[in-house]
Amino acid sequence: MPVTGLPPYDEGNIFARILRGEIPCRKVFENEHALAFHDINPQAPIHVLVIPKAPFVSAADFHAGADDATIAGFWRAVGQVARDLGLEPKGYRLLANMGHDGGQEVPHFHVHLFGGRPIGRMVPGA
Ligand code: AMP
Repeated sequence: MPVTGLPPYDEGNIFARILRGEIPCRKVFENEHALAFHDINPQAPIHVLVIPKAPFVSAADFHAGADDATIAGFWRAVGQVARDLGLEPKGYRLLANMGHDGGQEVPHFHVHLFGGRPIGRMVPGA
């Protein structure tokens, strides 16, 4: 069970299907901990999603429930993807939506990586 009010992990969610190879993605990175691929509806010149391979619904679920090696492996992968994409000199933004108020649509934990231009305000309307 997830640790938040979100439903249990849904094996039919779109990222689970990508992980199983049932639907394609534009992959940029993969190791035993993480898969990274281009967002289908990019909000910046570079908009990549990094997802853990293990089935966690949300950021809360992942950080409370994953073991240390899984958490470290995932976040190291996020850093490597940004480096591999050449984003470190100019910078980038990481974002993880969690649950209803966070605007999370896909119930498999994921981190958005935005870059390629100044990303602007941290929170729209702020
Ligand atoms: P979130 O609102 O944080 O759950 O973001 C989910 C993201 O997944 C959105 O930015 C979508 O554009 C993206 N997305 C949904 N389906 C796909 C897909 N098949 N391939 C790549 N990105 C997707």
